[in-house]
Amino acid sequence: MNLEVFVLGTSGMMPLPGRFLTSAMLRRDGELFLFDCGEGTQVSLKQLNLHWKKISTIFISHMHADHVTGLPGLLMLSSQVERDEPLYIYGPPKLQEYIESNRRILDMYINYEIIIKPVTGGLIIDNPQYTVHAVPLLHTKPCFGYVFAEKDRPGEFFPDRARALDIPMGPLWGRLQQGNSVTLDDGRVISPDQVIGPRRAGRKFAFVTDSMYLDYIADSVRDADLLLCEGMFTNDLLSDAREKRHMISSQAALIARNANVRKLGLIHYSPRYADRELRQLRDEAREIFPDTVLCRDGMCFDIPLKD
Ligand SMILES: [Zn+2]
Ligand SMILES: [Zn+2]
Repeated sequence: MNLEVFVLGTSGMMPLPGRFLTSAMLRRDGELFLFDCGEGTQVSLKQLNLHWKKISTIFISHMHADHVTGLPGLLMLSSQVERDEPLYIYGPPKLQEYIESNRRILDMYINYEIIIKPVTGGLIIDNPQYTVHAVPLLHTKPCFGYVFAEKDRPGEFFPDRARALDIPMGPLWGRLQQGNSVTLDDGRVISPDQVIGPRRAGRKFAFVTDSMYLDYIADSVRDADLLLCEGMFTNDLLSDAREKRHMISSQAALIARNANVRKLGLIHYSPRYADRELRQLRDEAREIFPDTVLCRDGMCFDIPLKD
C-alpha cells in the first residue's frame, strides 16, 4: 500500500513566486489528508494533479493567515464536484468560527457535510488502520503539530510451516492467521507464532509548524519515517526565532536526531531567503542531522513499507 507525502508549499508568512505557503498532502490508499491550507494551496493541488474530492480530512496547525486563508476557496470547490462523504477539519477552537463566518459572509454554497473538530492535543483519530495525534506546540497562538501513524500489521503467514506441522488447510489456518491458538485432532496446541512471523511495523508521518523549539516534540514524533518540520531561520537569527516563536533549521534537526526519525524535510522558510540562500538552512541542519532534505514545492516523498 502506497504512502506518499506531497509538499504543496514551503514558504512561511507570505507566498513567493515558486514558493507557495507551507502545506502538505498525505496520500494513503487513495485517501488524501491535507495539512494546512494557505492561499494558493489550490494551485499546488492542481499542479500535482491531486483531486480535491479525495480529501477526507484537513488538519490545521493554527489560525495564522499563512496557514488558513486558502481554506474558503478550497471549500467552495464543492460547487464543481459531487461529493457524498463528509469532510473532517481538525484544528484549534477558533477554526469553527472562521469557517462558519466565511460561509455566512461569502454565501458559500456547500453541498456536503463539513464536520469541524476542535483539538486540544492527544489522540484525535483512532481507527483499525491508523491513528492521528495532535501535538500542542508553542507559538504566538494555539498551535498543533500532527502525527499520522499506521497501526502495525499482522506478521506474514507461512503455509510451509503450517504444512510441516500437519495442520490441515482450511478453517484452522484462518484462525491462526487471525492470531488465535488452535487445538488439532491429535491434541497438539499450535500457537500463531509457530506459523506467523513477527508483526510488521506501520509507517509514521509528522507535520510540525509553527513553534519554538521544545524538547518534548521529539517524544511526540519518535521514529517517524518522515518529519516535516519548520526550519524558518539560519543559526544567526536564533534570538529572532525565539522572539517570534519559530525555529531555526538546526533546532528542527535536533528534534529529528533526538526522535530517531528516518528523514527530516525542512519547510516554512522565511521569505527573507532567496532560493540559493536556503542551502545554508539545510547545511546548518545537516551538521546535526545528515538526513535532512530542503523541501521544495512539488516534491514527493514515498514512504515504503518496511518489510
Ligand atoms: Zn506560519
Ligand atoms: Zn504562525
